[in-house]
Amino acid sequence: MRITMNIDFTKMNGLVPAIVQDALSGKVLMQGFMNAEALAKTQETGMVTFFSRSKNRLWTKGETSGNFMELVSMKEDCDGDSILIQANPRGPVCHTGTDTCWGEENASKTGFIDQLRAIIKDRKNNPSDKSYTASLFAKGINKVAQKVGEEAVEIVIEAKDDNKELFLGEAADLLFHYLVLLEAKGYELDEVMEVLIQRHKK
Ligand SMILES: [Zn+2]
Repeated sequence: MRITMNIDFTKMNGLVPAIVQDALSGKVLMQGFMNAEALAKTQETGMVTFFSRSKNRLWTKGETSGNFMELVSMKEDCDGDSILIQANPRGPVCHTGTDTCWGEENASKTGFIDQLRAIIKDRKNNPSDKSYTASLFAKGINKVAQKVGEEAVEIVIEAKDDNKELFLGEAADLLFHYLVLLEAKGYELDEVMEVLIQRHKK
């Protein structure tokens, strides 16, 4: 992966701080330092690599533990002296065994909703014959709304039963079609969140 970067390595004698964020959850995982070589190696291998000041050499996170951090994207900050990296961690990030270097858990997957919304938007704007989502948009708003109604009925039926797998499957169907309906109407999930935030304030 080649991402054009414009980093000023002179301010801190060849090193810049690199902050690593989980690409899915947005959680800050750890912070290290990179020199130009570490930056290049991270881009070449797709595995986040730092310059370790204690080891005085390049250090690919996970090289001993196996808990590599797969590079998703990176960018420099406003004045080019700090790097923000988005990555997928293969395991706990900290050498102490915790998910982040601040002792936090990083188990939430709700950030995937934003990825899913981006995919749904793309299916609307760049429809393909093979896409189920694109076929929903093609059928129009009434059909999408009807689908949400059907999925709502199905989750009600499963709610009365005790099958976790079937219930979660219907919950996923409902959430997915709900997001498709929002997109079909041209509204953002944030607008729904804003309604909930306003209600919460009262
Ligand atoms: Zn740590």
